[in-house]
Amino acid sequence: MRKKEFKSESKRLLDLMINSIYTNKDIFLRELISNASDALDKLYYRSLTDKKVKVDKDKLEINVAFDEANRTITITDTGCGMTKDELEANLGTIAKSGSLQFKEGMSKEEKVDIIGQFGVGFYSAFMVSDKIVVTSRSVDSDEAYSWESEGADGYIITPAKKDEIGTEIVLHIKEDTDTEDYSKYLNEYELKSLIKKYSDYISFPIKMEVTHHELKDEEKHEYEDHKEIETINSMVPIWKRDKKDVEDSEYENFYMDKFNDYDKPLKVITSSVEGLTSYKAILFIPSHAPADYYSKEYEKGLALYSNGVMIMDKCADLLPDYFSFVKGVVDTEDLSLNISRELLQESHSLKLIAKNIESKIKKELETMMKDDRETYNSFFKTFGVQLKYGIYNNYGVDKDKLKDLIMFYSAKHERLVSLKEYVDEMKEGQEKIYYAAGSSVAKIDSLPQVEQVKDKDYDLLYLTDYVDEFAITAIQEYEGKKFANVENGDLDLETEEEKEETKKANESNSEMLKEMATELKEVSEVKFTNKLKKHPVCLTTKGDVSIEMQKVFDAMPNDLGIKAETVLEINEKHAIADKLKDLYKNNKKEFSKYTKILYSEARMIAGLPIENPTEISNLICEVISK
Ligand code: ADP
Repeated sequence: MRKKEFKSESKRLLDLMINSIYTNKDIFLRELISNASDALDKLYYRSLTDKKVKVDKDKLEINVAFDEANRTITITDTGCGMTKDELEANLGTIAKSGSLQFKEGMSKEEKVDIIGQFGVGFYSAFMVSDKIVVTSRSVDSDEAYSWESEGADGYIITPAKKDEIGTEIVLHIKEDTDTEDYSKYLNEYELKSLIKKYSDYISFPIKMEVTHHELKDEEKHEYEDHKEIETINSMVPIWKRDKKDVEDSEYENFYMDKFNDYDKPLKVITSSVEGLTSYKAILFIPSHAPADYYSKEYEKGLALYSNGVMIMDKCADLLPDYFSFVKGVVDTEDLSLNISRELLQESHSLKLIAKNIESKIKKELETMMKDDRETYNSFFKTFGVQLKYGIYNNYGVDKDKLKDLIMFYSAKHERLVSLKEYVDEMKEGQEKIYYAAGSSVAKIDSLPQVEQVKDKDYDLLYLTDYVDEFAITAIQEYEGKKFANVENGDLDLETEEEKEETKKANESNSEMLKEMATELKEVSEVKFTNKLKKHPVCLTTKGDVSIEMQKVFDAMPNDLGIKAETVLEINEKHAIADKLKDLYKNNKKEFSKYTKILYSEARMIAGLPIENPTEISNLICEVISK
């Protein structure tokens, strides 16, 4: 039998597993038990929906055994099993979504981080084993197969004998080293504690042979060992237990196990509802986004149980897209077990549960924002984009649900603030919510137009995500206050006097400004302004499309032809204004050069590309070498 190679990424992951970069090796058992439990869930669900599959519910179980002399641990389940192809597909490859990009010289922490994003799963068993043999018979096959591997150099699959449907995994435990004690796992007490600690809530019995010391003769103090198969776990699903009896660490372990995360959740939300529909739910907000979260591969959804039996592991209808990061479990008695997926979607109870869950998540997030800003900041950093995207999606239908959950960087407070906080602090006479958009806080802060708003002692919001302006445009106004991009030409922050002054300057130089606009083509207008304080020029826009929005459109693969209407504004008080006036009268050739240079400066400040950099740099040299 030829040995097959693992897919290269799986191989690298395996290498890391074998070299044990995880310090917590104990988790191998919970991973295997969790897989076994999933397989039992699948088989049981099949039996309810497929008449051909008959299952004796009492025989659905997991068994853990060990053999100290031969250094093996055996985990057996009577679940759905795997066909030959499934053994190949499921155990020969990992990281089905995304790719593991290991770089040379990565630190251990970085590696753990990458692996963690994919979940450790079955391969974690290689942390403690130097050989693994998986023998399985699928519910869909009359034949059994063995998958065997000694680590990174490959695996073989051979026909095997197995009478019952299900899977048996034999771990050949590594020899102890100077630093690692593997023998400790070949111990009844240790295995029992691990099952209790990590897998107590598993809804199928986890059985193990347990030794009892029994007093045989009281006088002689003689004991006799007597062995008995016992169920180790309490089998009560964690969501069915009284919340006050469950330790935080139990919720955390459950989350990490069930949803394959190496990190604790940021927030645990429990919910128990009785009424029109009754259900229990545990929801988790992860502390970091899964590797594939912002890709198409990511599947949202909550695990759906009907009275303790899993119906579906990712029920998408239970979560709106903007809360797609939430993980969790919902258990209800109101859904029939053998409901088809089509009927499930139509189910009134499911819709009601989804609605309740949505408002529960929203309420919890609002409370977190109010009472625990630090955690909220961390949440927002990870998933804020999703909320902002939710506001702008579907023509803004959900904006009112989400507008109080978003935050933007405040120039005044130098931290994230909510729209409510901004509006509550608005100055007397301030009519609008001012914002500026750009790729970073520092870049926005140096925009010439920002100064004018700061001078008024008004706060400004800095929008640094590409989706921000689209979200703001969808919201339109908050508590009756409209949003104003400082880059927009008619911000209307000048005094009447200043306005009059600018009007005059523009009128008396209208010929010159018109000529500049003709020369530049791309701008719709060139005008004098007094909003710029010390800066010579800036680019502003008219209409609804801002410069930042245009950048987003430009980056799209299909050219929508959406362009911002731009205006070149020149500081009338700056020395450059007089220079221009002079050249316009006396040296038209120089005037044209200055016009082009100034426009390029304005584009550069706005973060827009200069289309003809060589020409501009030559012009600058000509001018400065005079
Ligand atoms: P995950 O459980 O996150 O999918 P694993 O690497 O732990 O990743 O397992 C890969 C796949 O192998 C599982 O999704 C499942 O299809 C299959 N599998 C693992 N263990 C068993 C088992 N005991 N019975 C049936 N299928 C199993």
